[in-house]
Amino acid sequence: MSTVLGYPRIGPRRELKFALEKYWSEQITAADLESIALNIRRDTRAEIAGAGVEAVPGNTFSYYDQMLDTALLVGAVPRRYAQLGLSPLDTYFAMARGRHEPGTEIPALEMTKWFDTNYHYLVPEIGQDTAFALHADAVLDDVADADQQGIKVRPVLIGPLTFLLLSKPEAAAAEGFSPVERAAELADVYAELLGRLADAGVEWVQLDEPAYVADRTEAELAALAAVYRRLAALPHRPKLLVASYFGDLGPALEVLAGTGVESIAVDLVAGPAAVERIASGTGLAGVHLVAGVVDGRNVWATDLSQQLDLVRGLAGRVGSVAVSSSCSLLHVPYDVTMETELPAELLPRLAFARQKLDEVALLGAALGGRGGPAETATTAAAATTAAAATTAAAATPAAAAAVAERSERLRAARQAVRADASVRDRLASLGAADRQRGDYPVRAAAQQQRLRLPLLATTTIGSFPQTAELRRARAELRAGRLDSSGYADQMRTEIDRVIALQEELGLDVLVHGEPERNDMVQYFGEQLAGFAFTRHGWVQSYGSRCVRPPILFGDVHRPRPMTVDWARYAQSRTAKPVKGMLTGPVTILAWSFVRDDQPLARTADQVALALRDEVADLQDAGIAVIQVDEPALRELLPLRNSEHAEYLRWAVDAFRLATAGADDATAIHTHLCYSEFGEVIGAIDELDADVTSIEAARSNMEVLDDLRRVGYRRGVGPGVYDIHSPRVPSTDELARLLTTAAESVAPQRLWVNPDCGLKTRRYAEVEPALRHLVQAAEQVRGTL
Ligand code: GLN
Ligand code: ZN
Repeated sequence: MSTVLGYPRIGPRRELKFALEKYWSEQITAADLESIALNIRRDTRAEIAGAGVEAVPGNTFSYYDQMLDTALLVGAVPRRYAQLGLSPLDTYFAMARGRHEPGTEIPALEMTKWFDTNYHYLVPEIGQDTAFALHADAVLDDVADADQQGIKVRPVLIGPLTFLLLSKPEAAAAEGFSPVERAAELADVYAELLGRLADAGVEWVQLDEPAYVADRTEAELAALAAVYRRLAALPHRPKLLVASYFGDLGPALEVLAGTGVESIAVDLVAGPAAVERIASGTGLAGVHLVAGVVDGRNVWATDLSQQLDLVRGLAGRVGSVAVSSSCSLLHVPYDVTMETELPAELLPRLAFARQKLDEVALLGAALGGRGGPAETATTAAAATTAAAATTAAAATPAAAAAVAERSERLRAARQAVRADASVRDRLASLGAADRQRGDYPVRAAAQQQRLRLPLLATTTIGSFPQTAELRRARAELRAGRLDSSGYADQMRTEIDRVIALQEELGLDVLVHGEPERNDMVQYFGEQLAGFAFTRHGWVQSYGSRCVRPPILFGDVHRPRPMTVDWARYAQSRTAKPVKGMLTGPVTILAWSFVRDDQPLARTADQVALALRDEVADLQDAGIAVIQVDEPALRELLPLRNSEHAEYLRWAVDAFRLATAGADDATAIHTHLCYSEFGEVIGAIDELDADVTSIEAARSNMEVLDDLRRVGYRRGVGPGVYDIHSPRVPSTDELARLLTTAAESVAPQRLWVNPDCGLKTRRYAEVEPALRHLVQAAEQVRGTL
């Protein structure tokens, strides 16, 4: 018995991305867009069924985001969008992207990270009187279209509690109102929907409740129990699969088991602790367990024998077991076979979405038996495919043999990847001293002696605008129309320009502008041993935006310096200090697919050692300030509080390993952005950087209070210029923010900078904004 919890939807060649962008720029009609979407839906169902996966999920498609879909499904459209009087599709896109037209300037819904993934969802706004009402057409159409295709689907929906827990109160809501207070009313809408789906002949529905793999209050657990008891008691409804993923349900597992829902999906990859609890047989005797044993978050092939044993061990403890991906396959690329340039030794270790279907199908066949949400797949289309022939009702000896054979091959492939003994020896020889710099007061004095900076020193975060010429040069280099020396010439010309501009503006610590970097992680991955890059491995980040994460597969080391030539060149063009610019170990891990055969901590240390060598070389080249960016520090924070300390320990350790080789007179800066840092503020202090620049412009410098609370006493640059907006802040406005900052930070420790890199902005905005920033610093300096 087999299923998957969801599938990628951007299209194997990013068809949806391109169609969306054409629709938004009015190059195609809504009907064109809809027909492309329909093809993606059909191909997805056919792909899943054709692979022999017995239960096919439905409604896995989204034009933009599944949380936004849910908001429309239940009628939670804030008035400012409803008022526009647009078609349903354009109302939807207005919520996703805002509406920017002469006379109407309506911002999009807030966007935020989907749990600890790199996917971002739109945050619904719920008020005390949001009028929930069912708009089921999209979901019912998907079911009807699947029927026509001869495939019975299990529609996938965000569950009512996760929807509310991830929403935010609308601006007008009373103080203290929380969306989850509306759970009972929202459950009415879901009840109505379940009735409609039953009418449409749907046998199973999947309701996703991943919010319950994080810590939840008693009241939130009680709401879960109440809502699902209510839904389970409906006389006319499909069977219910409540799906969890990204971690262990903890106490919510038994709560759900007691509600009368037929089936629960658990993520045994991210939450392996559940295996023990389930095996000890608590309250799940009547439940069909959907065991997520094929990693939906990472690109590695599954050790099928090992996972089959695991599932078999659970079989007697629960009503029945099916096998599944650990979460939706949305988070991995489509298909390894599209890749032609990956190292041959790596290929047998990889499984993207398409390969994971095969894995799940094979496990299901080897497991045999019937029952649970995986029993209903009977599809005319699938039955005619050869692959489906392997999914007999009973375990087939052929499937068992195939499982064993695949595991053998995988284990051999893993062994074939040579460990790098020198990297391992070096790691093994590290001691605490390798992560510890000298005393800060001594460092600060040595650095000031060397740099002679004014109070309220000004700087930027690293990148300057990525112009069309720069992108063109990179494309020409890739296409072979520009040789590397021609490319380097262009980059040097750009560095000259950026340095001259900063001197003219009067900034104190300059940057080279990062013109040579495509991306702050890819740039380093391409130069480090142990990384591989795909051509088509796109994964949706949000809406039409996709990323192609590097694959960190082997021992990491640095064959040669990565940034030193550029930094040295930039420094040669000015008497002012130029900052060297590196990406930190945690951020490199966070934005890559990372090997899962050793602890993340060890992989982070390997990356850190490579960076440590780079820091040493930059220092030897005369670079006096080195910034190690860690914008993703908050991103990898585990969902459960009990796991925070361990994560932060190794994250901090890796940063310190990367930077602690620096001399006292070398200033180590770090930069953080993209989130609120309250939860990790103590760890930021422990990074022991000499200067921390941090996003703050949008929260009125609040982060400074947090830093003071944890006793942070080194340099800090609260971002005063919000680079996410094209708006140019005035000198007065910047001076006001700086004055606020100067109330809580001594002027020797206070730095003046934007809140992130400038690469996405245009010079027309950046030049005046930085001019104002320098003026504001001067103005406030004069008042000290
Ligand atoms: N140094 C990088 C830049 O300026 C930092 C980017 C980031 O924080 N995301 O672009
Ligand atoms: Zn940033």
